[in-house]
Amino acid sequence: MSLIGRGDALMGSAIGAKVGALMTRVHERNHVDLLLGRNPVRWTTADSPATERTPSGVGVRIWLDDGGRIDADAAVVAVGALPAVRWLLGSGLDISDGVLTTASCHGVVNEGGGLSVVPSVVAAGDVARWPNLLIDSTPRRVEHWITASEHGQSAADSLLLGPGQAPPFTPLPRFWTEQFGVRLQGVVRAGRAGRPWRRWRRPTAGRVCRRASA
Ligand SMILES: Cc1cc2nc3c(=O)[nH]c(=O)nc-3n(C[C@H](O)[C@H](O)[C@H](O)COP(=O)(O)OP(=O)(O)OC[C@H]3O[C@@H](n4cnc5c(N)ncnc54)[C@H](O)[C@@H]3O)c2cc1C
Repeated sequence: MSLIGRGDALMGSAIGAKVGALMTRVHERNHVDLLLGRNPVRWTTADSPATERTPSGVGVRIWLDDGGRIDADAAVVAVGALPAVRWLLGSGLDISDGVLTTASCHGVVNEGGGLSVVPSVVAAGDVARWPNLLIDSTPRRVEHWITASEHGQSAADSLLLGPGQAPPFTPLPRFWTEQFGVRLQGVVRAGRAGRPWRRWRRPTAGRVCRRASA
């Protein structure tokens, strides 16, 4: 298996260079062909126009920006997600990157440059962009299962309480991933982890603790 990535370390932008380098080594030890610091520039498949069609037996052919080329049976493209908010066009809600809400999950209408809160609309989960006041006042979208689940409960409470009474939704950001038997668990906003403060290994698992810096 080959893995093409722009960064120099796997998941480096989310978990930092040091732990990213550790996860990179985990993949190397498990015989993943890592093509890091590179970018795909063009690809063709059996469905491409006749002049570009891949030869039989090659599912997809990918050209890289360093001049390299990869032939593979199949390609999985993982380039992030965009919130599906087109159906809200014309509602007045600020949907510039997901649905903008207050800290307590209420929708925000953008009227002639001025923002006003909509008591009857709440948004939660991946689609919501809200300020987590535990961190700062910048509205952000968070794509995590646990957050989405807690966010839904908080949004329902906020709908019943109304903007005046509803408390802000302030979850502690946390995530996990498990790759080749190594479980990585983080308690921090992605990209803001401090330097690792303790690390130890066991025969079957690697463990890294990172200091949370909100
Ligand atoms: C490949 C992948 C791997 C992931 N792995 C992890 C992980 O390991 N750990 C983790 O914490 N998170 C992970 N996530 C993120 C996690 O899945 C999301 O954060 C979570 O599912 C968000 O829940 P949600 O309810 O906000 O949105 P969704 O789960 O996306 O649910 C939204 C639902 O709304 C429906 N919908 C959309 N528009 C409309 C409409 N107009 N009318 C009616 N219904 C509509 C959609 O069909 C969908 O069913 C992963 C995501 C992906 C894609």
